[in-house]
Amino acid sequence: MPREIPVSDGFPPSERTRVRRLPERGLYERSEIYPVIDSALTCTVAYLLDGRPIATPTAHWRDGDQLYWHGSAASRFLKSVVGTEVCVSIHLTDGIVLARSGFDSSMNYRSATLFGICEEITGAEKVTQLDAFVEKIVPGRSKELRASHDQELKATTMLGMKIIEASGKIRDGSVHDNSDDANEKIWAGVLEMETRFTGLTPDEETPVIAAPSQLLEQMIGKKI
Ligand SMILES: Cc1cc2nc3c(=O)[nH]c(=O)nc-3n(C[C@H](O)[C@H](O)[C@H](O)COP(=O)(O)OP(=O)(O)OC[C@H]3O[C@@H](n4cnc5c(N)ncnc54)[C@H](O)[C@@H]3O)c2cc1C
Repeated sequence: MPREIPVSDGFPPSERTRVRRLPERGLYERSEIYPVIDSALTCTVAYLLDGRPIATPTAHWRDGDQLYWHGSAASRFLKSVVGTEVCVSIHLTDGIVLARSGFDSSMNYRSATLFGICEEITGAEKVTQLDAFVEKIVPGRSKELRASHDQELKATTMLGMKIIEASGKIRDGSVHDNSDDANEKIWAGVLEMETRFTGLTPDEETPVIAAPSQLLEQMIGKKI
């Protein structure tokens, strides 16, 4: 019998979501999984298309227990997942763990696996959530943009998925070498990595009408 994992505010592990491989890295609390979801700009949605597996990357955002993504109304992906269960995978890579053997080398990461049933989002919620999406990417930007035209809203499909099952997994820290390898004269440690915004390149096709807002300037150097 697997050890009972206490979860105070999250997703008690199910047969499907219980992390078996290195279970000590498994996370099930909202407070542990949601920062992973919110830090990532993109996710990959896995589903069945004509009975065969396919995984499609897309941008996402979250509001409470609801995960959202959007795209063209013509998207085969979006059309085919409405009303169906999908698995969403998210990961951020934080470093390459260079052990003294290839076998013990690894990566530092934060990841989440989410399950839910997709529904189409329409009406006022769609408009509100489009702003929420913009705000996630560049806080304050939704107030600077013109309102969406009806035609643009029509050409956009938005999907929402209540997260019904979820697991997170984090690998951090240093090298876990086989003790026999500790005396090998090989450098070991972590090659740290991060994703960050690096600069603003103005659109050269249109005249510059104003300096970028402070909000945009503040994004430079922001770590994801
Ligand atoms: C950037 C990155 C690189 C990785 N590189 C490797 C690699 O090279 N080789 C390798 O074997 N593994 C790698 N992993 C770990 C991998 O994601 C799996 O956790 C691992 O392979 C065990 O798979 P399993 O099916 O045996 O997991 P199990 O523990 O049997 O999975 C059971 C359940 O645990 C949950 N779960 C499992 N893995 C994750 C996860 N990563 N995040 C959230 N929930 C999870 C899911 O709900 C899953 O259904 C990497 C992960 C990341 C994020």
